[in-house]
Amino acid sequence: MVAPIRRVCVIGAGVMGAGIAAQVANAGVPVLLLDIVPAGAADRNALASAAVARMLKTDPAPFMSPDAAKLVEVGNTEDDLGRAADCDWIVEAVIERLDLKQVLYRRLAELHRPGTAVSSNTSTIPLQSLLGGLPDAFARDFLITHFFNPPRYMRLLEVVPGPTTDPALVERVSSFCDHVLGKSIVRCKDTPGFIANRIGTFWMQRGVNAAMDGGLTVDEADAVMGRPFGIPKTGVFGLLDLVGLDLMPHIDASMKALLSAEDAFVVNHRDNPMLTRMIGEGYTGRKGKGGFYRINRERGKVRESIGLVTGVYEPSVGAKLPEAASKDMRALVASDDKYGRYAWAVMGDVLGYAASLVPAISDDIAGIDAAMRLGFNWKQGPFEILDRLGPAAVAARLATDGKPVPELLRAVGDRSFYRAEGGEVQFFGTDGAYHTLERPEGVLRLDDVKRRSQPLLKNGSAALWDVGDGVACFEIATKMNSFDEGVLKLLDKSVSLVRDGFKAMVLYTDATNFSAGANLGQALFACNIAAWGEVEKSIAAGQRSFKGLKYAPFPVVGAPAGLALGGGCEILLHCDAIQAHAETYTGLVECGVGLLPGWGGCGEMIQRWASAPKMPRGPMPAVAKVFEAVSTAKVSKSAAEARAMRVLREGDGITFNRDRLLFDAKARALSLVDGYAPPPKPEFRLPGAAGRAGMTMAAQGFRAQGLATDHDMVVAGRLATVLSGGDADPVDAVSEDDMLKLERREFLALIKTAPTLERIEHTLTTGKPLRN
Ligand code: NAD
Repeated sequence: MVAPIRRVCVIGAGVMGAGIAAQVANAGVPVLLLDIVPAGAADRNALASAAVARMLKTDPAPFMSPDAAKLVEVGNTEDDLGRAADCDWIVEAVIERLDLKQVLYRRLAELHRPGTAVSSNTSTIPLQSLLGGLPDAFARDFLITHFFNPPRYMRLLEVVPGPTTDPALVERVSSFCDHVLGKSIVRCKDTPGFIANRIGTFWMQRGVNAAMDGGLTVDEADAVMGRPFGIPKTGVFGLLDLVGLDLMPHIDASMKALLSAEDAFVVNHRDNPMLTRMIGEGYTGRKGKGGFYRINRERGKVRESIGLVTGVYEPSVGAKLPEAASKDMRALVASDDKYGRYAWAVMGDVLGYAASLVPAISDDIAGIDAAMRLGFNWKQGPFEILDRLGPAAVAARLATDGKPVPELLRAVGDRSFYRAEGGEVQFFGTDGAYHTLERPEGVLRLDDVKRRSQPLLKNGSAALWDVGDGVACFEIATKMNSFDEGVLKLLDKSVSLVRDGFKAMVLYTDATNFSAGANLGQALFACNIAAWGEVEKSIAAGQRSFKGLKYAPFPVVGAPAGLALGGGCEILLHCDAIQAHAETYTGLVECGVGLLPGWGGCGEMIQRWASAPKMPRGPMPAVAKVFEAVSTAKVSKSAAEARAMRVLREGDGITFNRDRLLFDAKARALSLVDGYAPPPKPEFRLPGAAGRAGMTMAAQGFRAQGLATDHDMVVAGRLATVLSGGDADPVDAVSEDDMLKLERREFLALIKTAPTLERIEHTLTTGKPLRN
């Protein structure tokens, strides 16, 4: 058992330091954030205070909830450094200058208590240089923890221990960052740029140079470098705009200074006059006037891209790759056109470079792949890409081009870097043998389960898996994990199967999003042919399936991550417990498309609010809370916010590390097994006509402020009817079945209206809401 970290100090309240402090606070751990005292400032903590204030306004938000911000205490390095000694971990995130960092370390070394971890967030400076001249006792407690920007959202954390760093301290910091902050730890060697930036900056350098050499436009280069390789569609140029063009000369200079003259990065490096000119003119990327792309407001918000030869901005027209090449990287690199040549010119070199760096920068290939997936959001790392292209084919082509073929690539020969053996994933080691890819304790991935077993049930939309210890996992597998008929059918079958042979069930997917809700395309199709009977049937089917889940004789735990919207939220409301990933974006958004929650969500949310601690008496307060959230289609921006919205209840858990979510959800489900009884059927006390009038008035208030449209009023009226119990008198109890009937009736009334259908159609075609 490693000693917990109870208090953290972050020094340097810039982009990274402030973001790291926010993530520590998000995890519920108090943090002291220090920066220098600005010359002549009245408020000596002005820099750290300003950083917190700025973060409260930043979007995407560094804080998961306003409460988290309260855990950040601000201070300055002149008055408060002594207090850092009381913390369990001190993170240094001051500007990237060795001299300044060292001055700070010397001060810290004087007040440092043995066992307090000190780490640097440096991107490029080797640990050996950072520690030059510092006492051994300080070195024992020192390491590099390299977060990625923005620290809340980027999952990668590169951890670099020094030769004398205490292994127990490395474990303590790593364990905290993994379990509590939710980061995926990749151990790196003490080499320049560590793993992700070493390969990532080389990839960007090759991407820019090869596009200029090959006569590609910025749009074409990004289209080639993006989707076909499973890389975000920003490609190289869009990513440079995102990180800031002005950062590049600094990174280049520092990499050049630190790497050997033979390193491919140094060999390929050239000065880029165009980049220098752009930075000089304020074209530093998205944070500046624009970068390789810009939005031209004078031309009416036209997106433009810069000509790599002319330096003149033209409307960005995108690029259409040949069909096969756009989907398949093998076809792309094989094609003898400028796209294929560019793809190979960049990726051939990057893959060769990556293979040449094992074991220099990482003991194994798995660390490199993980770093590129988590730090650059690539779907696959370089060695996984190599397996797609065929290592032998890549080696042969590098040789034909007269380029060096790295030893590792020769060694793997015509085999692959990864293989499945006995249901386990193995990777090719530098010793020429395959080794099992071990998952850390407490990490359970559905992908691994799938590799070693067959589904218990499966159709084209969903599957049920045995995840061990008597727990079955229901997985949706449609586009955006939306609910269609197949999902509901398999859910019903799964409930029967689990009842007869398992102890509990979890709802989980490895995919980015838990579920974007009902399949609106199918609904629209039925509406367009006026198949109202079908629409009603599908609402009733969803209600039946979700209540079947709720009253099943075994515990069910919902484990959302990413989006859990509409029906995706409603199914969670029917679970006995929720174990949510910290990044869960959930809510009943139906009103946004002119509908209302029709799969039991209205009643479940009323129950959740009625049972909330400290709710005032009477039926109206709970109903008003539900009306407020549902009529505005409110979506949580974190699991913490979902708790405030009462989608999560008191006993529900939040997991910060995405890889640990299924394991935690399964453990939660098993904890509910002993003595499990399904919940009793509720009876609703609802406010009736008076309540309905109250809600309508609230909606009219929005209308008067111009915040609601005419159709919003219609939708809000129907929602108010359901939430107030329809025509019920406030003294009558309304049964759950009556609530479901009401939901169905009002849902159908709305889906038959033209403005609702327009909203659905608009959302399906544009992905955006229509405010009609
Ligand atoms: P930044 O310029 O945004 O912030 C640096 C902060 O440090 C400023 O607020 C400055 O006032 C403060 N500072 C300077 N000297 C100080 C001192 N002696 N004591 C206390 N505070 C001091 O820089 P950043 O981008 O947040 O980078 C910080 C560190 O993180 C650097 O080492 C950088 O290489 C690394 N890093 C940056 C990124 C990124 O994307 N920006 C990513 C990973 C790592």
